[in-house]
Amino acid sequence: MSRDRESAVAVVGGGPAGLAAAEVLAGAGLPVTVYERMPSVARKLLIAGRGGLNLTHSEPLPDFLRRYHPAEPRLTASVEAFPPAALRDWSADLGQATFVGSSGRVFPESFKASPLLRAWLARLDGLGVTIRTRHRLVGFGDGSLRFETPEGPLAVRPRASLLALGGASWPRLGSDGAWVPLLTAEGVAVAPLKPANVGFTVAWSDHFSERFAGEPLKRVAARIGEHRARGEAIATKDGIEGGLIYALSRPIREAIERDGAASLVLDLRPDLDVPALAARLARSRSGESLSTRLRKAAALSPAAAGLLREAHANTLPSEPAALAAAIKAAPLRLLSPAPIARAISSAGGVAFDAIDARFMLRARPGTFVAGEMLDWEAPTGGYLLQAAFAGGRAAAAGLMAWLSER
Ligand SMILES: Cc1cc2nc3c(=O)[nH]c(=O)nc-3n(C[C@H](O)[C@H](O)[C@H](O)COP(=O)(O)OP(=O)(O)OC[C@H]3O[C@@H](n4cnc5c(N)ncnc54)[C@H](O)[C@@H]3O)c2cc1C
Repeated sequence: MSRDRESAVAVVGGGPAGLAAAEVLAGAGLPVTVYERMPSVARKLLIAGRGGLNLTHSEPLPDFLRRYHPAEPRLTASVEAFPPAALRDWSADLGQATFVGSSGRVFPESFKASPLLRAWLARLDGLGVTIRTRHRLVGFGDGSLRFETPEGPLAVRPRASLLALGGASWPRLGSDGAWVPLLTAEGVAVAPLKPANVGFTVAWSDHFSERFAGEPLKRVAARIGEHRARGEAIATKDGIEGGLIYALSRPIREAIERDGAASLVLDLRPDLDVPALAARLARSRSGESLSTRLRKAAALSPAAAGLLREAHANTLPSEPAALAAAIKAAPLRLLSPAPIARAISSAGGVAFDAIDARFMLRARPGTFVAGEMLDWEAPTGGYLLQAAFAGGRAAAAGLMAWLSER
């Protein structure tokens, strides 16, 4: 096995968490090498750019931090140290000024990830960061990291290392979760990786699935237990997905694990209460069909009306108040999450009890972890990238503090 020219610090994983860590470490004057298994870094960040690159969110910090529940206490210090405003300044500093969209989400003005990544990589190059692509971490030795490379096996023995290997969603972009057995073999507790921000299967009738697959359900609300969300969902051939569903994916997933299925309640007219909706329905002309009343008086789209019939097994009441109540509480049984490969992000990962306050693995002193590979999850809305950037920086700070004590 050959040996690499030794860098003081090895960062493994070239996503936003790893690159953010490399920037802090190299900015402090440490020689840093980033090892990345793919032929180029930050592929998931680039794909996120296809959706406009929702970098972070503009809501007040206490609300922002609640999105990480139940891991909020574990992430608060890192997000407070590099909050959304700092991320926006950082992006602007790289020539990508940001703006707040109507939903409060923050995007670069270019709506793209590639100019930001280009400028960032140029900055890292200027700081002397070495990036070695096609280097896949395959194991640990005593104080060393073992890689598979196109030139064969390689062992490196850095003074400290920082792992930012991501979760297991969209594995073709690089993060495949293959690190889990490597770390468990080292005695590190890892919660199983599970799909987060994901769609769920529904046993639609053939009629609904053929007619409405791909149709959006706009401006609807949903609740499960005490959890509520508003937004847009999309009916698929065999289920339902979209921001509204993603926002509730943790309680839905937990209900399925507990009970075998989850009962979601959809409100198809969240802007009107039952009496107001009933009053509209009561004004419809006598002799009008149910379809016409749903379309005209309740202003439901064909897909929403179809879902309503499906949810109430085609036994909708005609009396206005009862019909209004049915529109505002359409039950939907969700059976299973889509596979993790189709999820936006992963839940699970390295247990917080397996690391100290500096993000160092208790089982491997000198090895730090950051980003989505830690056991937290959050809805879409910029919370994922914010925690990845902030977490990479915080773990880098922890690593430097540990090094300086030695
Ligand atoms: C389609 C899509 C759209 C998204 N849009 C948004 C959005 O708009 N806003 C938002 O906040 N979040 C979004 N996300 C989520 C966000 O991109 C991730 O949460 C974020 O990239 C996680 O950063 P990370 O650095 O922890 O992990 P990753 O970005 O997954 O990076 C980990 C890196 O480690 C490398 N790696 C893995 N294993 C090894 C190994 N054994 N050896 C060497 N290298 C390895 C991987 O190849 C990868 O480059 C989106 C995700 C997807 C899939």
